[in-house]
Order: sequence, then C-alpha cells, then structure tokens
Amino acid sequence: MFDTHCHLDLSDFDLDRDEIILRAKNTGFQYFMIPGIELSSMTKIIDICEQNDEIYFASGIHPNNAADLVSNWAEGVIENTKHTKCKAIGEIGMDYYREYCPHEKQREVFGMQLEIAADLGLPVIIHCRNAYDDLWPILSSWLKNGHGRTGVFHAFDETYTEAIAAVELGMKIGIGGPYTYKKKNERRIEILKAVPPDSILLETDCPYLSPIPHRGERNEPSYAALTLAKISEVKGISFEESDKQTTENGLDFFRIF
Ligand SMILES: [Zn+2]
Repeated sequence: MFDTHCHLDLSDFDLDRDEIILRAKNTGFQYFMIPGIELSSMTKIIDICEQNDEIYFASGIHPNNAADLVSNWAEGVIENTKHTKCKAIGEIGMDYYREYCPHEKQREVFGMQLEIAADLGLPVIIHCRNAYDDLWPILSSWLKNGHGRTGVFHAFDETYTEAIAAVELGMKIGIGGPYTYKKKNERRIEILKAVPPDSILLETDCPYLSPIPHRGERNEPSYAALTLAKISEVKGISFEESDKQTTENGLDFFRIF
C-alpha cells in the first residue's frame, strides 16, 4: 500500500512518529508521500525522509500559507526539489474555505508553482477547497500545455462530473477517509464508481480526515487500509487487487522506481 498524502511531519506525531510509521509498515504500507505546506517545515520533512527509505516528499506552498511569503519563496521551493526524494510539487492550489489568503495572491502563488512543476517535469499535488470554479480553468490549461506531467486532486470532494473531467485530462483522484462515511455519502460513492481504477491514489491526509470507525480521531497511515477496503468493495475487486493497483498508480505517478 502507498499513502500518497500524509503530513507525518506535523507536531501531532512528534511523540510517536516512529511507532506510527512502524504500525503502517506492519499493516502493509511500503510507500509514503509527505506534501510540503510551507518552507519552514521542509528541513523536518527532509530529515524524516532521510531516516526512512520508504518515505518521499513534495515541495510546495499550501494556499493557506501563501499570504506572507518571503520574497524569494519560489527559489526555496525549487531548491528543495533537488533532493533525490522530492517527487512532486505540492501541496498547492486554492482554498476559499479558510480564507487565510486573498484570492488574487492564492492564484499568483498557485500559478507560479504550476510553472515550476512544468519547468522541472514534476507532477503536482492539488489542494482545492470551495475554489473549484476558479482553480479548474487554471489547472486544466496547465494540463493541456504538453509538458507531460499531470496532478492528483488530493481529498477530492467535488462531484462525479468534475471527477470525469479531471480524469479525462490525466488527473489522478485522491481517495481518503471521507469515502468511508456511512451517512449522506452517495455523491462520493458515485465518484468512486465512476473513476477508473488506474486513476485512483490512496491517501489519508493524516492527521486529518480519519476513516470510519476512527472519524474525529487523529488519523494515521495504517488507517488507509480501511479506505482501501471501501475502494475494493465499491469497485467489486479484491483487497489485494486494489492494493496492487493503487500502489502501482502511486509509484507510476510519482515516478518512484
Ligand atoms: Zn494535505
């Protein structure tokens, strides 16, 4: 299994990080991806990746951290991609839910990071919350510009229609804990049915978005096995098969060989 989106660097894990990584490995997780959210935490992320062969990272500025950036932030993002374990630009995008940063600034920081990804030939990890209508025109034109890499819609939470449009342009769909919720979840189940198996990436977004029966608790990579069980149930394929497929999808997407 591959947890393609886990914030293992956050202080929520400071007391038991090694234990959590071990528990995930014992559950069958072989690969992990830590997305970057700001320049100041990159040293910690890189340390974790250097201590653990199976953990990789992405370099990027989260839209909620885009308001007060140092003037040479873009160079910082580029500098971190030189590390051998950096496999993507992310997580980047737009967030009109938290409203931590003016929309115009979010668009500018997002656009610049898409350009960096295209220049460096890296895929992107997309964060989109209440901002799809503004984000999709920018992202879809980036996808069409022929640089050969795509992105993953992390914690995808639009509808079936947007999922299909994204997959048609080569995007991957990040499936996490909310897809296991039991109540009022028809929209997500419809998305899961519609997305082809080779377009799904498994993720936790830990410490957030725990799957059932851990909803409301701190999330951790080993819980993604519960989400994977939901994926196999909806897709009508065995757990082993969906494990193999989503792991291959992640390795292929991030070009980990
Ligand atoms: Zn995240």
